[in-house]
Order: sequence, then C-alpha cells, then structure tokens
Amino acid sequence: MPFFSILEYSDSENGELFMNTYAVFKADNYEDEVLFETVSKHFEAHDIKSKIPHGAKVLLKPNLVADKDAAFSVTTNPRFVFAIIKYLKQIGVEDITVADCPGGALLLFSEMVDVYEKTGYSFLSEFAMLNTDFESSDVASPNGSVNPKFNIINAISDADYIINVPKLKTHNMTCITAGVKNLFGSIPGLQKPAFHAKYPAIKDFSNMLVELAQTVKPDFTIVDAIDIMEGNGPTNGKKRHLGLTFSSCDVFGLDAFILELLGIHEDLVATVSASKQKGLINRHGEKIGDTDFKIDKPILLPASFSATSGLGKLTAKTKTLAEKAVAAVLMSYPQMNENCVLCKKCIVTCPKRALKIENKKIVLNKKLCIGCLCCDEVCPNGAVDIKKKIKTR
Ligand code: SF4
Ligand code: SF4
Repeated sequence: MPFFSILEYSDSENGELFMNTYAVFKADNYEDEVLFETVSKHFEAHDIKSKIPHGAKVLLKPNLVADKDAAFSVTTNPRFVFAIIKYLKQIGVEDITVADCPGGALLLFSEMVDVYEKTGYSFLSEFAMLNTDFESSDVASPNGSVNPKFNIINAISDADYIINVPKLKTHNMTCITAGVKNLFGSIPGLQKPAFHAKYPAIKDFSNMLVELAQTVKPDFTIVDAIDIMEGNGPTNGKKRHLGLTFSSCDVFGLDAFILELLGIHEDLVATVSASKQKGLINRHGEKIGDTDFKIDKPILLPASFSATSGLGKLTAKTKTLAEKAVAAVLMSYPQMNENCVLCKKCIVTCPKRALKIENKKIVLNKKLCIGCLCCDEVCPNGAVDIKKKIKTR
C-alpha cells in the first residue's frame, strides 16, 4: 500500500482547496545550471508562480546556524538559494529578503555580515536583501497549547510569502533537522537556548517547534539535500553526498516523506512524532519526481542516538519498544576535547549556566546540564564530544 494517497485538504484561511504534493528531484551537484533546472521543477510542480501574490514581500529562510563555509554542509548551500532567487526574479518577484537568526548570542550587524561572508552568501546581496536586523515582535500561536505566542524576527513575521529553505542534516537532539526544525531560526538570539531551558524534555521541545511552525506557517518548503550532514549534526557531523532535493507546501508531511524515502523510523525524529500526534501528518497527497530513489547505506545518526540506532537486529516491533526504553534512560552530555580554544561561545549559549572555565579548561556541572547540546551546536571547532549518562529526560 502506498504511503501517501491522493486527497485534497482545505486551507483554513481562504477556504481554497489544494492538493498536498511532495516532490523529490535528483541533483548531482551545485552547478548553477543543474540547480536552476532542479529548482524550476520544484516550483513548477507546485505551481508556486500562481500562489505568490503580486508585489509580495518574499522571504527566504535558509539554515545559517553557524558561520561555516558551504563545504562543511552545515548551512543551506548559497548556490541553491541563488537558484531560487533567480527563479523568483524570472517569474516577476522583485522584493526578496534572505533571513535567518544563527545559533548562540544575539548578533550585531557586523557579526551577521561576517556570517554572510563566511557562509558564502555575500554575493546574494546583488540580487536580494540580506537581513541584518533582529528586531522582533510577538506573534500569536494559532494552536498554542504549549506556547500561546512566539517572539519572531520581523523580517520573517512581516513577509507576505515565506519560502523555507532547510539543509537536511542529522541533529543531536531531534535526530534529523529538515523543514519544521529549520524554523527555530525565526526566534532571535539567546531566546533559542532559553527555549531549551523551558522545555528540557525532547517531547515538549518538539511540541513547541511544531507550534512554532504552525505560527510561522511557511508557504513553501524546498530542501537542500544534495550534500547533507550525517553523524554529529547539526554543526559537527560529516558531509555526505545524497544528491536529492525535496519540496512541498505542507512542511509537516514533507518531513515525514523525507524520512520515508531515507528509511529513517519516524519515532526517532521527535518533531515528526509531535506533528503526527497533533494530526498534522495526514498521509494524503501525491508523491512526484524521483520517488524510486533507494539509499545505498543508512544515514549515520548522531552519537546521541547511537544507542537506539544500534538495535538493528531486533524485529520492528521489539525495536520500537527497545528504542523507547533506551531513550527514556539515556541522556547526552558534552565533554570538551583538545580542540577547545576557550572562545566561550558554549558558556554564553548554555541555557542552564552549566559551563565555566577552570584551570584553562571548560568544566561541566552535570547536575545543571539538561543535555540540550546547544554547546555543541555553537562550538566552531568541533570541540564537544557527546557522552551518555543515565537520566530521564
Ligand atoms: S568547547 Fe567550543 S565553544 Fe566552548 S569554549 Fe571550547 S571552542 Fe569555544
Ligand atoms: S552544557 Fe551543553 S548540553 Fe548541558 S545544558 Fe549547557 S548547552 Fe545544554
């Protein structure tokens, strides 16, 4: 039985009926010609041209979590974003802004310019506005059972049409980051670690992320999975060539579609589990494109998930039960290695003030640590090893 079937759903705001479509197209590399052709196929598959209002302020939300060169596969590749901008220009869109709020402390104008420089985005300023303003406003969460409102950077909340442009990566907390998790960058600076402190349990944190996605409500999501990150993502894993791109107007169903194609169990990815429990993954829609793709070897999951991913010899049912039991008692915690240069980014970012410098070393207070691994996410040097300890998270 196919995973998805064709069904229409109603857009609650304007009452129009749309078909949920989930697209996957192969793309071998980041050459401009290949990317433009691929991006065009995605936009045309969903007839995005007819959906962007005339004169709309269009916002592109890539993943710029850290100031790393595109070669590390930490950020959405700038050539991918360039292809999207070129396509938008071709269909007559003039007002295009690129915005994300990287991890760690609230950035100054000059620091964000530096992020654009180091990630290879600077050249895009010729074709679109690169946002450097992190002024934010409260936006009511329409389904806010966890959070009634979110403080979102104005560049995103003021846009008329939002295009979510994630990088597909592993993630030490949510296992995989794709469409839903990418929207966490809508929250300014150190408010992000504060959310980790507020929701230390993965389930609660993921419920918050899903409500945030319902609040930001991206109109279209197009995923850069040409080179992905596996292992200890989202910033310190290894680059792997996958050669795929994904898209949909339904960000929740798209994440589930990606996992299905890559053979990753949905229950391992907390954001997809949370979306499923809220009834947001309705399995309805049409799968199009290179859907016959078969992955040659499994995606290497982060060390924080290694205990669960090593249960491959068990039957599917036993494996699910075992995964849940293991996840319930094991918590990840950081241990700094010899790559540490004492830059203090992890100390500033830690939501529980669990890190300090003692005798020229970063020392962890394990009693305070909640295992959010924000320290690993902001570390520019791969100086955080992930260890396990027994504790219910
Ligand atoms: S662990 Fe990383 S972020 Fe923390 S001080 Fe060392 S180098 Fe900086
Ligand atoms: S030390 Fe790292 S994992 Fe522990 S609470 Fe702080 S940021 Fe999170």
